[in-house]
Amino acid sequence: MQPLSESEILGSFTNISDHDLERMTLPGLHEIVWEDREFLGWRDAHAIQRGYIVYWREGRPVGIMLKAAGSRTKPGIAAMCTLCRTPLPGGQVTLFTAPKAGQAGLDGSTVGTYICADLSCSLLIRIVPPKSELQPDPNAVIASRAEGLSSRLNSFTDGVLRAS
Ligand SMILES: [Zn+2]
Repeated sequence: MQPLSESEILGSFTNISDHDLERMTLPGLHEIVWEDREFLGWRDAHAIQRGYIVYWREGRPVGIMLKAAGSRTKPGIAAMCTLCRTPLPGGQVTLFTAPKAGQAGLDGSTVGTYICADLSCSLLIRIVPPKSELQPDPNAVIASRAEGLSSRLNSFTDGVLRAS
């Protein structure tokens, strides 16, 4: 993805109050490898139940605030993130809810989905077996996973932005 500046991130959020935006803790942007990401995702270091996703959508940054719904999937039971579709041990996938943008969100309307607890989908989809007879092109695998991840993130965002 194209890099994002701090002010682009802060200006991108669609579903957060001014109060919560002021209290948001940003990640260390100098450590981000932007070209290996479909979105920037992080948990708030000072409000750990909160998570954030920011990505470029139709040429502009769009940010979504998420709230972890308390319980993770049960340890010992396999789970799957709905964005990256990486099968993970339970406990590493969390139910997040996003308040909807605009009045619907102010009225309490949310969209929920299971996502990697640490929002590291872009890292996970890049873990592929090395080149072999069965898997001739690891880069093609990553490209196809990245496309799926981006398209599912867009659908999720559609739901957050939809007025009703
Ligand atoms: Zn994921």
